[in-house]
Amino acid sequence: MNGSRVAAMREVTQRPVRITVRPEENGILQPTSAWFGMNTFGLRQMRAKMPKDVYKKLAASIRLGKKLDSEIAPVVAQVIKEWAMSRGVTHFTHWFQPQTGLTAEKHDAFLNFDENKLPIETFTGEQLIQSEPDASSFPSGGLRATWEARGYTAWNPASPVFISETGGVKYLCIPSVFIGYNGEALDEMTPLLRSSDVLSHRAMELLELIGDSGVLRVNTTLGVEQEFFIIDRSHFALRPDLVMAARSLVGAPPPRGQQLEDHYFGGIPERVQACISEVEHELYKLGVPIVTRHNEVAPSQFEMAPIFEDTDIAVDHNHLVMSVLRKIALRHGLQAIVHEKPFAGINGSGKHCNWSLSITSDNQLDGTNLLKPGKTPHQNIRFLVFLAAVLKGVHKHAGLLRAGIAVSGNEHRLGANEAPPAIISAFLGTGLTQVVEDIAAGKTSPKNAEQAMLKLGVAKLPDVEQDNTDRNRTSPFAFTGAKFEFRAVGASQSIAFPVMLLQAAVAEALGEIIEQLKAEIKTGKSTDDAALRVAAKAFKESAAVRFEGNNYSDEWVVEAKKRGLLNLRRTPEALAQLRTDTAVALFKNTHILTEVELESRYHVRLERYVKDILIELHTIQQMIDTQVLPAAYAYLGTLATSAGQGAVAGINMQPIVDAANSVSKLVTTLQKKRAELAKVITKAEHMHDDLGGQAGYLTTTGCDTMGEVRDAADAIELAIGDEYWPLPRYREMLFPV
Ligand code: ADP
Ligand code: MG
Repeated sequence: MNGSRVAAMREVTQRPVRITVRPEENGILQPTSAWFGMNTFGLRQMRAKMPKDVYKKLAASIRLGKKLDSEIAPVVAQVIKEWAMSRGVTHFTHWFQPQTGLTAEKHDAFLNFDENKLPIETFTGEQLIQSEPDASSFPSGGLRATWEARGYTAWNPASPVFISETGGVKYLCIPSVFIGYNGEALDEMTPLLRSSDVLSHRAMELLELIGDSGVLRVNTTLGVEQEFFIIDRSHFALRPDLVMAARSLVGAPPPRGQQLEDHYFGGIPERVQACISEVEHELYKLGVPIVTRHNEVAPSQFEMAPIFEDTDIAVDHNHLVMSVLRKIALRHGLQAIVHEKPFAGINGSGKHCNWSLSITSDNQLDGTNLLKPGKTPHQNIRFLVFLAAVLKGVHKHAGLLRAGIAVSGNEHRLGANEAPPAIISAFLGTGLTQVVEDIAAGKTSPKNAEQAMLKLGVAKLPDVEQDNTDRNRTSPFAFTGAKFEFRAVGASQSIAFPVMLLQAAVAEALGEIIEQLKAEIKTGKSTDDAALRVAAKAFKESAAVRFEGNNYSDEWVVEAKKRGLLNLRRTPEALAQLRTDTAVALFKNTHILTEVELESRYHVRLERYVKDILIELHTIQQMIDTQVLPAAYAYLGTLATSAGQGAVAGINMQPIVDAANSVSKLVTTLQKKRAELAKVITKAEHMHDDLGGQAGYLTTTGCDTMGEVRDAADAIELAIGDEYWPLPRYREMLFPV
């Protein structure tokens, strides 16, 4: 084995397990509930510290998704500052989500000077509510060309402020939106919040129409299952591809991959277990309710999932999950990888977004899950109308949902026999499909809707669906009893964007359903009868998007085509869905994005794709030049020397000459491919004035060439002596010893 790999292996095998110290009182370990959320300042803490009237106003704005009253801001800021300083915090930052897929922050100290130039700590209402980072350094997709580069961040009071602890430094994070001076959305959160608002208004209107009054807001709920890999930091550090692109660009498959299926639900290796426990510990302090952890299918792959929360908080929390995971893993000498496909030939990582709608009200409807079948006929009609809206929206905007998950990493995952394909369809389960089809076919011939419900047996659905064992794991968008699970989302993504698109699609469908319902009611029907008719129409028109079979099969690709469903395999073609007339009309209708904001989303994403692929191309080129080829040359050199020396001694060196010849052939192939790669890079870079053309070229010729270079390199990895190969192999990285 090569020297650097030996050194890494030594470190890996000798690393101690790092144990997390949990809070104790009088020598007794405190239960998690005793300190959960200790680094956040949410409603519970505010109630204890704030004047009653201020608390009431703040609570109301949080509960109903309204902006904070600027009159109470100074008091809120004062209380937050006192709490933060009592915890040793010195700085604050507006924590926001630019369109980079990550979060951003700029720290400011509480430290200030009074009129006598004496040092004091201050934190004003204005500082809490608004801040001004330098917007020009974030991607805006052309928005800057249209407007000024300036932008500001504004606190989203619904998401509690929290203390981040990094390298012994504590600072206060204020979850915020990021907008331009004319109100244009520069971030991921603003459109998400807008979509939640539109959806809420329309859902409330629909509920009112079918006789469910007194609803204050309809929130969407989200539970995000996060998949990731954990490997040793020493191995990671020796792989330029993982460091640069979070994905291995070369690497021959190991003799044992995941075929034994022995990792899934097996015991978590001790060092990883210790790491995940500390991740959970830090997340609990931040109020992130992680409750599930387990191994995933691939070796060294794991999953964590929280209890679901309101969507915008769940989105913030998923960012915290990813960043805390990355940070804490390092403390354990480990590296967390949240890329969609870090290792070829082995399952990739996704992020299952479980999504539903929930009522906020001060009557008995409070907490009702609108995607959960109920007990009474009316409850079930309500469920069916909302189900109809989701299916209608997903059917009409399947292309947009595909665009929402279009990142370079997900390209390797979708359709790779492990993840849902690039075709967006919805799974309902046998019981519910029957009900939906009967309603769509008008089979119910009800005297009234109530009887129809009884006849269809919808009331039995909760029990049927909950222990439904034929759960379809292959569907990109599956109904799982009381929620939909959007499974095609990539592990590394900020989920604000795909969830916003889903909410926009459903909001538009709700709008149409409301209009149709009003028309039906005008004809004198009871509201329940009218609602069932409208649902039947939506079920019928969206039938093509429902698919119960195996999404991994080749037959489905053929069948989907017949049904007219889109199969967008590459990122650029998927992103183009953001520019269709249907998409433009959707955002106009819902007021979630202006046309310019929508266009900017397309640009930011396409530009990101081009950058990702170019980084990969440069990285693989450097690895070939500085690692793979030199290793092969050194090995060839040794063979040649041995052959020469043997010949002098009169030994038959033909076997060595044969070995050298076959490696030499592999090297020639790689050199040829490497020369093509260089041309591809030059050509792609010359196309910088034509983003669309560049993306199109990179996704075809660029990716194909990269694949060919990789194949040639992998053949060399398997042909040369182990001590010459400089890169940790899949075997070493994925199977901890
Ligand atoms: P499954 O077995 O379908 O994966 P789980 O009960 O394990 O279901 O839940 C998976 C995720 O879905 C969890 O994060 C859970 O909190 C979330 N979830 C459950 N109900 C809802 C809901 N009504 N809305 C959003 N997410 C939900
Ligand atoms: Mg799941």
